[in-house]
Order: sequence, then structure tokens, then C-alpha cells
Amino acid sequence: MAEMIRPGDRDEDRHDRTRLIPWVDMERVRSANVLVVGAGALGNEAVKDLALFGFRNVHILDMDSVVRSNLSRCVLFREGDQSSGKGKASLVAERARELDPEIHIKATEGKVQSLGPEEMERYDIILGCLDNVAARLHLNANSYHARVPYVDGGTAGFRGRVQAVVPPLTPCLQCGMNRSHFKVMERRFSCTGQDTVYYQPKMAAEITTTSVIAAVQVREAVKVLSGRTAIAHVMHYDGLAGTSEVFAMDIDPGCPNHPSSKLS
Ligand SMILES: [Zn+2]
Repeated sequence: MAEMIRPGDRDEDRHDRTRLIPWVDMERVRSANVLVVGAGALGNEAVKDLALFGFRNVHILDMDSVVRSNLSRCVLFREGDQSSGKGKASLVAERARELDPEIHIKATEGKVQSLGPEEMERYDIILGCLDNVAARLHLNANSYHARVPYVDGGTAGFRGRVQAVVPPLTPCLQCGMNRSHFKVMERRFSCTGQDTVYYQPKMAAEITTTSVIAAVQVREAVKVLSGRTAIAHVMHYDGLAGTSEVFAMDIDPGCPNHPSSKLS
């Protein structure tokens, strides 16, 4: 006998409408361990999307506290958070639980440099919501070595960029960087002689581009976890022109993250 479905039954399932997309693997989404590095503008949007999409196991890492200028781009922060004494990561976790109490979200106050390949191996996918090149390269190299897919996002004003790195086959973040990036980094490091403190210029940023880029990052995570092919390899978004383009890259034979390519 056919199952009786009463009007309104399907609306009791929070994710009923998402389940109507045939290729989305909601069980995989629910079970996947996701690391989000950075609880700033992109991290806020990414965690909001992860929670609403149905992700259940999220770890968010950030070392900063909220300042008032964050409030224009961070959907999970509230006026007053800047004087709460709480870290960005724990506030994001707290508010994500309000969006969906079934989410298991862990917050860590710390630096990305504290995570090596052994820690990366615990995750099924990693989202980079960072604002500096040094932290990105650390995350990129360690996730590549741990063979964990990494989706990097970045914005500058009305422009944005998302790169999907799926080891061991795709190029990585470092493959697309030319020597000038490294010269800039070397110069910054030499100011203090340490790798922990260096001048980070404030970038122009606004919420609409932030929302687009973080949404693309989470979408790529859903695709990879559902067994779909990720973008190959970098999406450039131009909010002024209203366009986005995907560019393919090659593995740089000089990139240290691909030892097998150097042997061939
Ligand atoms: Zn590479």
C-alpha cells in the first residue's frame, strides 16, 4: 500500500527542499567533519551556510576578538560583541547553535600555524576564510599533504576568488603564486624577524561580495562531499561587471607540495 503523506508532513523536515536536489548527498553532509579557518567576514557567512545546509560537525578556528568594524560584514555578530571579551570563533559557534541546535560546532582560539598534517587528517574538507597569504599557504600545504580537499576564498572590494584544491590531482594554491607574492611575504617577515607578527594592510571589503564568495566555498564543499567535480580550478568573481569566470591551472613542477610531479 502506498505510504500516506499528509499535507504539511514534508514541511516538518528542515531539509526537505534540499533533499529534492537529487545529487546532494545529505547523509554525507551530515556526517562530514568540516574545518573552517577564520571566523571573520567569510567565516561568518560560511558557518551560516554550513549550519543552514545541514552540516553537523564543524570546527572553527580563529585567534581574534570582535572589533566594531567587523559588524558590517559578519551576520553572526551582534552590536555589543566587541566588548563581550569573547573570541570570534566562540561567538560564531554560539550563534550557529541558535540557527540549528543539532549542529556540533567546536570553537578554538588559535593560529592556523598550530595545525599540522596530522590534525588536518581528521577532516573531510577544509574551508580557508583567511585574510593573509602566509596563513593560506600553511593551510594549503598541510591539507595537501594530508590529502584533504581545501577550498580557499578571498575578497578585495567587489572582487573575489575561490580556489578548489583536491589532492592529489589538482594544482594547489602555491602553484598559482608567482615570485612577487613570496617577495612581499619575505619583506613582511623581515620587519620583525619573526613569523608571528607582521604588518597586514587593511583590505577594502563589503558584505555582498563576502556573501557570494563564502557561498561558493560552501557549495564547492557540498559538491566534493557529494562526489561531484569541483570547479577546475579557480573562480574569479567581478561584482562590478556581475560576472564570474573559472580558470584552469597547471601543477607547477617547482611547487614543493607535489613531490611526485618532480620525480616525473
Ligand atoms: Zn602546488
